[in-house]
Amino acid sequence: MSDPAIDLRSDTVTRPTAAMRQTMFEAEVGDDVYGEDPTVNRLQERVARLLGKEKGLFFPTGTMCNQVAIATHTRPGQEVICDRDCHVFNYERGGASHLSGVQLHTLSGQHGILSAEQVRSAIRPVDLHEPMTALILLENTHNRGGGVVYPQPLILDIAEVAHQYRLPMHLDGARLLNASVASGLSPAELAAPFDSVYFCLSKGLGCPAGSVLAGGADFIAQATRLRKAFGGGMRQVGLLAAAGLYALDHHIERLAEDHRRARQLAEQLAQLPAFSVDLEVVHTNIVMVDVQADYTAAAVAADLAAHGVRVSVFGPQRLRLVTHLDINDGAIEQALAVFKRLYG
Ligand SMILES: *Cc1c(COP(=O)(O)O)cnc(C)c1O
Repeated sequence: MSDPAIDLRSDTVTRPTAAMRQTMFEAEVGDDVYGEDPTVNRLQERVARLLGKEKGLFFPTGTMCNQVAIATHTRPGQEVICDRDCHVFNYERGGASHLSGVQLHTLSGQHGILSAEQVRSAIRPVDLHEPMTALILLENTHNRGGGVVYPQPLILDIAEVAHQYRLPMHLDGARLLNASVASGLSPAELAAPFDSVYFCLSKGLGCPAGSVLAGGADFIAQATRLRKAFGGGMRQVGLLAAAGLYALDHHIERLAEDHRRARQLAEQLAQLPAFSVDLEVVHTNIVMVDVQADYTAAAVAADLAAHGVRVSVFGPQRLRLVTHLDINDGAIEQALAVFKRLYG
């Protein structure tokens, strides 16, 4: 093979490091459906502590965490309030509608960020004709919003509204640890206003798979039954949990490097006439790049790929670039050199 591509499509493309593979190799395992995998149990306890919740539950994917959380918090025919750019609405194959039988009441946020007033006015009155509001779902960091960190005071305002109406709150925290590193707030502080929250091990943390959902003991007991119904009861997954434990020890603080490199990409690309970047929203490891009208995002992405730089097409005129564990300073410089050569 020639030079491997510089892959900025997503932070999911990371491959487990040699040291991570070694811990996986040595993991003690058991049958997790019987609750007998000691490594999974350790990971679940560790994540519950990290997020300040009673219990944790290991899942194959973040999508399944969201879907099981929605199923646990709602009844068919009810409604979930969320931002219209959120992952659950756009990238989970409409799962909430057929797996839980709920409808999503989507609101137009600012880069995925909702205000408490928006949420309050979306809550349904008690009325024979209207669906019942059952859940408020937020996303932090917000993927389609460009990796923005949800301002915590806003979340606290929304939580106050939720509390008034006795509504549970779920956090899609796929990249919650990015939010923590970027904001300086602990994962437990960020998770505190929520009844349920999860984060992905398979993204910036560099694991091959896995996400951990956390919440109260009753919530997790019910989520454990639904996880089985959704086909997510796994066996000797201590192999994957070991990767997760390793990542929590070694790959959290380094997320700051991903954020610094994303910032570098954003600032330099903003200077090229072919592109524009809203630098205000580059808080973490995601950079949304808008392509000027003379080009299309698809054509630019194909052009870059032909020169060894892979990016995601996120709209007719929009590209998404994501920094991660397998992108070092040299890769950033090389990628920028390709951009400048083609579009400088
Ligand atoms: C990646 C992601 C998920 C879940 O993705 P999986 O690939 O199913 O693990 C959910 N929400 C957001 C915001 C994400 O970025």
